[in-house]
Amino acid sequence: MIKFLDLQKINGQYAKDLKAIAAEVIDSGWYLLGDKVKKFESKLLEFQEGGNVIAVANGLDALRLIFKAYIELGFMKEGDEVIVPANTYIASVLAITDNKLVPVLVEPDLNTFNLDFRLIESKVTPKTKAIMVVHLYGRVCWSNELETVAKKHNLKVIEDNAQAIGARWNGIKTGNLGDAAGFSFYPGKNLGALGDSGAITTKDAELATAIRALSNYGSAQKYVNQYQGLNSRMDEIQAAFLTVKLPYVENELNLRQEIAEYYNSNINNDKIILPSLGEVGEHVWHLYVIRTPQRDELQLYLQEKGIQTLIHYPIPLYKQECYSNLSHISLPITENIHKEVLSLPMSPVMSMEDVEFVVQIINQF
Ligand SMILES: *Cc1c(COP(=O)(O)O)cnc(C)c1O
Repeated sequence: MIKFLDLQKINGQYAKDLKAIAAEVIDSGWYLLGDKVKKFESKLLEFQEGGNVIAVANGLDALRLIFKAYIELGFMKEGDEVIVPANTYIASVLAITDNKLVPVLVEPDLNTFNLDFRLIESKVTPKTKAIMVVHLYGRVCWSNELETVAKKHNLKVIEDNAQAIGARWNGIKTGNLGDAAGFSFYPGKNLGALGDSGAITTKDAELATAIRALSNYGSAQKYVNQYQGLNSRMDEIQAAFLTVKLPYVENELNLRQEIAEYYNSNINNDKIILPSLGEVGEHVWHLYVIRTPQRDELQLYLQEKGIQTLIHYPIPLYKQECYSNLSHISLPITENIHKEVLSLPMSPVMSMEDVEFVVQIINQF
């Protein structure tokens, strides 16, 4: 059986160091807002090559806190609009609606699965305050056109960087492209904790200060509350685990790149459309997503051959029960993507034999 993602094997590589650092945290008697989080923040800052870093409880909170801080600082208010790709994971949009902002869903580009930049400007209204770009599946979502539209209409650009840590556009890392970015360290992400955690990066020091307070009950100084905040802090033990794993991220991204290149050069089946590789560094292959009109049939066939695949994502967020207020929306490209995509096994611990087997079986479909 070829697993979609083998977390036991991924973390097994670092088990000795993870266990040692867990013991250190247990013995320290200090579990929140301590040295381990400070150290991880400084290491992530180094990795990002500049900005400010705030460690938080998860990726959804990272995004929620960015909007909450912009509201507290007076840049946005209830009812303002945020442009966001329609085919994203629901968390991107939950962060918007949780702050009583209005998501304006935009069709993606079928070739990149990312926001279609040509459509952005037509969606801008006097209420538009931000564009949320999502580096979906690990591919950078950025362009000069996007920068121009954002500048022209004075919009904040917020990056959902949950899937693309380490990707670059023109040499700049995702998380440093826009005004602020949310990261997720959910166990299955390219840098995964052993539980939930997330982070925010931003070049804006004022925003960073507000976010840090908001993540800790709205308080910068203990028992003095400036805002009605959240409790969204990264655990010391997760920060310790992430500090152990962060130095291996670049190498793991290279392994993902090798698998993606192998898939692209060797999968050869008329029924299947492969993702484009893009420029060097532009895609960090959190997910390797193919398209086929016979998606469900292919998934079943692969399952019978012992190959586990997943669908990212089966239902558009605006067709989910929780967004019944958006159910009138009809976006053909997005809906086509949800019907046709399939994510193949992809991880830094996949053996080349397994990759070859996947290719061979797919070519026989
Ligand atoms: C994982 C993910 C999130 C949310 O991160 P959590 O840590 O699970 O809360 C947000 N956006 C995207 C695109 C994601 O993939």
